[in-house]
Amino acid sequence: MKNYFNYLFTLIVILLIFSSCMSGTTKPKLLVNTEAEIDILIINGTVYSGENTSPQQLNVAICKQEVCGIYPKGVTKKAHKTIDASGKIVSPGFIDPHTHTLAELLSQDKNNNLNYLSQGVTTVVNGNDGDGPVNIKLMSERLTKNGIGTNVALLVGHGSVRKQVMGKVQRYANEDELKQMQQLVTKAMQDGALGISSGLYYVPGSYANTEEVVALATIAGNYHGIYDTHLRDESTFSIGFAAALDEAIYIAEQAKTHLNLAHIKALGVDVWGQSQIAIDKITQAQRRGVSISADQYPWLASGTKLHSAVMPKWVMADSVSAFHKRLNDPELSSRLKAEIKENIRRRGGAKSLLITDFKDENIVGLTLKDVAKQQGLTTVNMAIKLVQQGDVRVASFNMSSEDVERFMVQPWVITSSDGTNGHPRKYASFPKKFQNYVMHKKLLSVNQFIQQSSGKTARILGLTDRGLIKEGYKADIIVIDKKNFKANANFSKWNKYSSGIEHVLVNGQHVIESGRYVNKLAGQFVPLPR
Ligand SMILES: [Zn+2]
Repeated sequence: MKNYFNYLFTLIVILLIFSSCMSGTTKPKLLVNTEAEIDILIINGTVYSGENTSPQQLNVAICKQEVCGIYPKGVTKKAHKTIDASGKIVSPGFIDPHTHTLAELLSQDKNNNLNYLSQGVTTVVNGNDGDGPVNIKLMSERLTKNGIGTNVALLVGHGSVRKQVMGKVQRYANEDELKQMQQLVTKAMQDGALGISSGLYYVPGSYANTEEVVALATIAGNYHGIYDTHLRDESTFSIGFAAALDEAIYIAEQAKTHLNLAHIKALGVDVWGQSQIAIDKITQAQRRGVSISADQYPWLASGTKLHSAVMPKWVMADSVSAFHKRLNDPELSSRLKAEIKENIRRRGGAKSLLITDFKDENIVGLTLKDVAKQQGLTTVNMAIKLVQQGDVRVASFNMSSEDVERFMVQPWVITSSDGTNGHPRKYASFPKKFQNYVMHKKLLSVNQFIQQSSGKTARILGLTDRGLIKEGYKADIIVIDKKNFKANANFSKWNKYSSGIEHVLVNGQHVIESGRYVNKLAGQFVPLPR
């Protein structure tokens, strides 16, 4: 009996609290309290929500880290700080699903990630292409401790996991090795990885068979994570673009995960025009229930290291010294040179490989063809010589604009940068896309561009409280001056900040005010929501 009265009493208390909460919004007293809690109010802007809805003139209220109110323009509210966005676009902060920014985020001077903030990017993904950290917990703690300017989410890299278990040996994994890799991926998913990435084009990912990747992607799928892949072949290097796509779709289908195709492209003259074949394959698979998306950067050149671009995979096995030894082995010479020559041809010839970063700055800005001529060597011998002198970054002009545009308008394609040193995509991908394909070519509407850069991306990555301007969502918000939103970086000056982003809020903190960065590190580690 006593228990019964206790129960009844508790129920009445709960009901009282509940009813006061529900009716609270109509009581003036509570309204005043709510108003006082608004930290930042963005007024008079044209708000794009990140979803497929028309832009509206709205005022957006931010309390602490979250959006806490959205009102019609003209409704006045008290706030600690007001941002007047008259004539400007108010958009969710952009989410970049493919970056290589860990070195910067862990540094002391570039951890503000300003080259991304100034593009309007408030969240970056790392660990793409099979690379990146194996221990997600350790990395997330290091990032948080160091302080970061943008949010960061992590993928666990198949290549890194394989390297930790097997080194760079060129063979398939045995049962025991596979089990060890599965344990590492399980741990990573439990520690908040968004999924698993692979770089089956690169060493050591390229040494894995399809079933190995299925076994690991299945674990990501069990945790509702994605499978993000740099295809085994975007060209005609090994199995060919179409077969590599089939492999990726097969892996996702077997593993029951979402498939994101990293930086989708038809690379090189041999596969130009194959964007249509790719789109057909993808839409067919989607029709039978496979969930597929792709990200894309808006440039006709990819960026990579010279050795990855032109060296055969078998030459690079085991270690750097083994690699260099093979390069100078007279017995391998004729096979090696024939394969390098063919790889250079696929990419459009030595004139299409622009050196963008190297310790000897005299050759930066020259093509492989120029340098070879200068030094009186064949382009193949020049490439062999250069890769032994250190990392040579190249911009590889290997895409056709028809393919780029055909991919860009697909409803399952989102914006990314794949930013790397030496390529302007690291500083200017989002404004470049806006400038070129929204304003100039009118291939996309402003709304489509924003969705491709925020809401759709969040949905693909499984982020449930970012990517939209919506009550309860994290206040990652940008104010764009449409007329001045532009790329300043290009292939001769790749590291110039972009302009036109007037205000940036990261987790409710105002980090760019009237175009000026105010030295606040407001980024957080973003785990895959449970
Ligand atoms: Zn890649």
